[in-house]
Amino acid sequence: MARTLVRLEGVSRHFGDVKALDQVDLDIRRGEWLAVMGPSGSGKSTLVNLLGGLDRPTSGRIAFDGVMLADLSESERVRFRRENIGIIFQQFHLFPHLSAVENVMVAQHYHSLADEKEALAALEGVGVLDRAHHLPSQLSGGEQQRVCVARALINQPKLILADEPTGNLDAENEDRVLRLLRDLHAAGHTLVIVTHAPRIGNLADRRVELQHGRLADLTVPSEEIERRYDEVLVQMWSLAEDGRVPEAQRVKVPDVVDNRRTLLGMAESGLIFQPGETLEFTPRGRSRARDLVRRRRLAEVLFSSAMHLSDPEVEVAACRMEHIIDPEVTNSICSFLGHPRQCPHGRPIPAGDCCELPIIS
Ligand code: ADP
Ligand code: MG
Repeated sequence: MARTLVRLEGVSRHFGDVKALDQVDLDIRRGEWLAVMGPSGSGKSTLVNLLGGLDRPTSGRIAFDGVMLADLSESERVRFRRENIGIIFQQFHLFPHLSAVENVMVAQHYHSLADEKEALAALEGVGVLDRAHHLPSQLSGGEQQRVCVARALINQPKLILADEPTGNLDAENEDRVLRLLRDLHAAGHTLVIVTHAPRIGNLADRRVELQHGRLADLTVPSEEIERRYDEVLVQMWSLAEDGRVPEAQRVKVPDVVDNRRTLLGMAESGLIFQPGETLEFTPRGRSRARDLVRRRRLAEVLFSSAMHLSDPEVEVAACRMEHIIDPEVTNSICSFLGHPRQCPHGRPIPAGDCCELPIIS
């Protein structure tokens, strides 16, 4: 099975003079969570409509799981969409005269008979089973959006597309819907979420950004990800030193609003155990944290004692240095400084190979 689920090549969609999308190339990989970011009017909904087979490009090719969408007739495209793509819209788009469960049932496969039991199970999955027989007007925004999620999922689509899915929701319902999306991703679904909200974009594996119809990749470079991991490791180390339990909530990742993806990435890389309320080092994570803390604090000593920098300068410079000093040199610096046991702030410096064990007399 190819890794790529959907491939866009040179896709443009023009409306008269307006280039809503302009020469977009994009691969969507199976199982990934892709966020499409961009300001209002940048072409996000146009892209959703094309990916969802609701519209055709002016030029360019879209291959969906090996099928060229342009080769399908109108009725084939409708059928293809039903069977392969689940779409969650900002403006819910529920039929006002149908109940929640009926709204889910109309989305069921063409050929299988509409199955109420299956539709009810889908509503149960998103936590609105008790609203199954209500009309959309009798549901809150959050409940309507969850019905939409159930409707989008009913045919086990290969791709779940969401266009500003929480744009019309309050914070509590936004969290609910985001949790649902997170669960879907964890269960292996491929998710494309269009949003202008960085908080939502940051939950994704990968971010791309549209600007005036053109696409730019915002993938975080791997060094940046490693730097975030290091920052978390150092924070965990310091918390433990203070005798505090490293709570997942207390750990702050620079430039990241929701630290959960970072923590999951760290677990996948074997640095911490699967994050729950609290965080725990794996042996490898502990050793990397120890090494980082050692380098950072030695650099602090170096800057303050040997170079007479002021306190704030010491901190900033030391944080930068820990990534520059290589382990060999760390031991030399440690020896040069006389194997200090404390940084200028009185925090202990983990001993290295170069440090003699203290002679206890
Ligand atoms: P976004 O979802 O990022 O806010 P859209 O994809 O809705 O942006 O729109 C991108 C651009 O294309 C905008 O300038 C918009 O006015 C234009 N546009 C979108 N759909 C149409 C349409 N059906 N007819 C004419 N212009 C359109
Ligand atoms: Mg839009």
